[in-house]
Formats: sequence, structure tokens, C-alpha cells
Amino acid sequence: MRFKKSLAALGFLAAAALTLTGCNSGAPGATEGSDDAPAAASETPWEVAEGFTLEGSPTFDKMEERGKVVVGVKEDQPGLGYLDNVTQERSGFDVDVSRWIAASLGFDEEQIEYKAIASANREQAIVNGDIDYYVGTYSINDKRKQDIDFAGPYFVTGQGLLVRSDDEDYQTLEELAGKTVCSATGSTPIQNIKENFPEIKTQEFDLYSACVENLINGQVDAVTTDQAILIGYAAQDPDNLKVTTGPLFTEELYGVGLPKGDDVLRTHINDLFTDGGTIWQAIFDQNLGNSGITVEQPEVDAY
Ligand code: GLU
Repeated sequence: MRFKKSLAALGFLAAAALTLTGCNSGAPGATEGSDDAPAAASETPWEVAEGFTLEGSPTFDKMEERGKVVVGVKEDQPGLGYLDNVTQERSGFDVDVSRWIAASLGFDEEQIEYKAIASANREQAIVNGDIDYYVGTYSINDKRKQDIDFAGPYFVTGQGLLVRSDDEDYQTLEELAGKTVCSATGSTPIQNIKENFPEIKTQEFDLYSACVENLINGQVDAVTTDQAILIGYAAQDPDNLKVTTGPLFTEELYGVGLPKGDDVLRTHINDLFTDGGTIWQAIFDQNLGNSGITVEQPEVDAY
């Protein structure tokens, strides 16, 4: 299942379960009809566990002691991890997965504190104990596993390209030789480009949204990261942006980042995913049902 770096240049479409059936067919995210939507808590597909305890999990002990969960998320990725600056509402597939996990541990929405943490700072935030767990387009890989553990995978996507809507259609990374491609510092896509495509110029920012601004302004020629992320940006601004339709360059399996060695919490979350197929599907449908991507829940890898 694991992505090998040597395959990065092959342009393979790894996950048979993942297909892009069309772009911009609707904005992912929970914005539609939000005006008269009831509070998120009353329509969640999960239930908050009552009287729950988790023996032998140091992370759970910390949560219980402070009476809340501290969750690391993204907040500039529509459809996945997004904060609406006007309503202050958080939405997205990853945010809902983080809520589902909190609920399974006995914590409701009022007992969740969200911390936005950029790609480059995730391992450190977990190692430092700044957050209890992280849910934010976080690819499972061996390098990261040296510092932290992952529950999951709970989602699968792959590296793709976002370009200006009036641009020639770049389909492969090879076609971007000599051009400037933007991605986030500390991410797997920027690493893939630097290691395997030295002829591509790179521009890095902490946030993908900064890359997208630079793409619209003409400062960079393409943005590369997971296609599920790029589709959210294109859906927000279809006049200016489009996701290319070529094959994905990698397979990215998303995991929940956890403090290393908390096997009890990891097993709890893995079991939640394994037994929670219906809830997973409801979260997918709510957040990404109109996005044009089709993803089946990947099998948990209980290492
Ligand atoms: N999934 C990739 C990663 O974990 C790219 C997305 C991100 O930066 O969060 O690096």
C-alpha cells in the first residue's frame, strides 16, 4: 500500500478506488444552505459517547484532566479543513473526522479547541504535546513515523496540479520543467518535486492558500499538492482556477497524527474507523459529495 519515492516520477494513478469524475461541479464544504442550517451538533452522524474512559492512554488522561480536546487542523482548505472568517464556523471532511473522534472519546463540540497548524509544524506540535491529535491532509509516511504515530488511513488521494483556468493544460510534472511550481513547506509534494524533478523551480509557503494567491497573480505557474485539496480551491474560484485532468503523481494516504507510543488511543481510533463505515460515508457525502471526487474508505492499517 505504501507509496515508494521511486514511483513518484511514473505518474501512476495508484488507488483504483479514487477517480476524478469532473471538476467544479459544486463547492465542497458545508456552506450550502448554511443560513437556516441548525447548529452542527444537532445534525452530526455520530453520537457523543457517555461515561467513556480509555485505560492506558496518556493522551486521553490529559484530555480528561483539562476537560477538553485540543485538535490540530488546517483552516484554509475548503472541503477538508476550513474556517469561515465571517461565521467562525469550521467545516470540512477532516474537521468532521476530528469531531467524530472527539465524540467517540466523550467530548462534544464545546469541548474541542482547534489549533491551526501548518504542514511543516505538525510533527513538532504533536511531539511537544501542543495538540492531542492532528487531522489535516496528513500523509502517512515512514519519515514522520519516526517522531509520531498514525491512526488510519482514513482517506486516499494523490498529488495533482492546479493551474490558471486559461492556461495550457499541463498534465505531467515533466511539462513544468523550467516553470515555477508552488507548494507548502514540509509537505510530501514539495519534497517529491525537489527530489525527483530538479529542473522545476519551486516556491514554498506555509499555506497552500498563499500558493493559490500567487498562482492567480501570475507569480507561479502551478500549485501542486493532493488533488482533494486542489479541487476545493478550484471550486471556490472556477473563473480563475482549474485542476488538471492528468493522472495523479503519487498516492497519499491520510492518517490521524498521534503522540508516539499511545497505542491505546491509536487502536481506539483505528477501531472507530473500521466499525464506522456508515458514519465515514455520511461525513464524506456532507463535505465532498459534490466535489467531483469519488473515494472509498481505505482499509485501516493497524501496524
Ligand atoms: N498530504 C500531503 C502531506 O501530508 C500534502 C498536504 C499537506 O501538506 O497537508 O504533506
